[in-house]
Amino acid sequence: MSSRTNRGILDRLKKGVVQGAEGYVFELERRGYIKAGPYVPEVVLDFPEAVKELHREFLRAGSEVMVALTYYAHREKLKDVGRENDLEFMNRQAVRLANEVAREGDALIAGNICNTWAYDPQNAQASSKIVRAMYEEQLGWALEEGIDFVISETNDYLGEALIALEVIKQLKLPAMVTLASVQHDQTRDGYDYIEACKILADHGADIVGLNCDRGPETMLSIIEKIRSVVSCYVAAQPVPYKTNAQYPTFESLRTGSGEQAFPLLLEPFLCNRFEMAEFARIAQAIGINYIGICCGGAPHYVRAMAEALGKTVPASKYSPVMELHPVLGAHVEEKHKEFLADWKS
Ligand SMILES: [Zn+2]
Repeated sequence: MSSRTNRGILDRLKKGVVQGAEGYVFELERRGYIKAGPYVPEVVLDFPEAVKELHREFLRAGSEVMVALTYYAHREKLKDVGRENDLEFMNRQAVRLANEVAREGDALIAGNICNTWAYDPQNAQASSKIVRAMYEEQLGWALEEGIDFVISETNDYLGEALIALEVIKQLKLPAMVTLASVQHDQTRDGYDYIEACKILADHGADIVGLNCDRGPETMLSIIEKIRSVVSCYVAAQPVPYKTNAQYPTFESLRTGSGEQAFPLLLEPFLCNRFEMAEFARIAQAIGINYIGICCGGAPHYVRAMAEALGKTVPASKYSPVMELHPVLGAHVEEKHKEFLADWKS
């Protein structure tokens, strides 16, 4: 493994907030390169330039981490779309693409593993073996191609997240392990999200937290509690959708006519860039260390969040003209007050 930068993830976190950006699968689906339904990142092999372009857009907008697009590039999912033979090449290529773009700036490369759909708490021993083998093969290839740390994400089960953590630690890499939060307050194997993060931290995770599923408003209250019980770094990567107390996750949002909005009718619920910038500011204020975005994310959000965190990034050259700020600013100021009042109550 070649070293791309002298500033690893833990060094950067020690000095301040690290900004991430995800949502590659959702964005590349919108751009016509990934099939909604299976959501397998075939684009890595079929249109590698499209993947590099999105990496580059996130890099220009302020993301300090290029996350290799290996989400759902595991054996179970590739079987579903008849591309099991492409498994190794897809995983290696995804890490290579992330590396190529990271070198255009000063970004880190994160290997990426996720929930496998193979873990079964009723049959933990046998299913853990399968999950472990999947993680070992994916991360083995990633390590050979060159990664700085690993993000294990959208974990529905604490049991599965702990397997991921063990595999990452065996490889002696920094581990960021984040939970999905589709259910009200517990993982699918019955651990409160806050307790689950505490257990992951106690088992040696360097960064714990939440990603995906919840928008800013419904993620903040949980993430703040996680912050208060762990001493390790905490990550928050919400989806940019207006989830609320009644519909706390983007999977639960309903259109006016009562249909489930997820995954293809979500546009009316999108946050604006100022709301995501506000999320970044609040997250920083409550001590969150790794701040990013998940499904639905796009470069304009990432740039607005970067600027809210006090950075000027390459894409800032084309940030909105100042004349637009007072108009939008006044409106956003009001929304911000409501937002703050809501989440604090
Ligand atoms: Zn997501």
